[in-house]
Order: sequence, then structure tokens, then C-alpha cells
Amino acid sequence: MTKICTRCLLADFDREKYEKLIGKSLSDLPPEDLTADDVRSSRLDICRGCGKLNQGTCLACGCFVEIRAALVRGRCPYKKW
Ligand code: SF4
Repeated sequence: MTKICTRCLLADFDREKYEKLIGKSLSDLPPEDLTADDVRSSRLDICRGCGKLNQGTCLACGCFVEIRAALVRGRCPYKKW
């Protein structure tokens, strides 16, 4: 039986992959589409405590939460943030 990680973000376990997969995506977006750092951080703190988080993705919607949380129009599918 395979065990899966349910409590981590890509940033927590592989910085190089994080920079490649997430950092590049965010840097390509217009600044006006991005939240303030404190907003993104508080959203991700909620994701860290959520059972739907799986290796940086949300099992409820399939998104990379670090991208979703960084978007001004980003929403949690369960309305946790
Ligand atoms: S976006 Fe919402 S449902 Fe998905 S991991 Fe974060 S808090 Fe959980």
C-alpha cells in the first residue's frame, strides 16, 4: 500500500521543484493579478492544516494551491479562505 503525503507544500520538500513549477508560473503573471504576500501566506497556512492538501495540490480542485492562493481571484473550493 502506498502512503501519500497530505500535509506539505512543494515549497516544504523540494525548493528546486518549487522554483521551477510554481515560481516560474507566478513570475509570468501580471503583478495586479497577485495577492499581497501576507494574504497568500495566511491562505497557505490554512491549506497546510487541511486534509485536502496533497503534495502541493488540492484534492478538491486539483490546483497547485501555491498558485491558487497567490491569485487575487483565487478561492478555496471549500470556502476556507
Ligand atoms: S484550497 Fe481549500 S480545500 Fe484545497 S487544500 Fe487549501 S484549504 Fe483545503
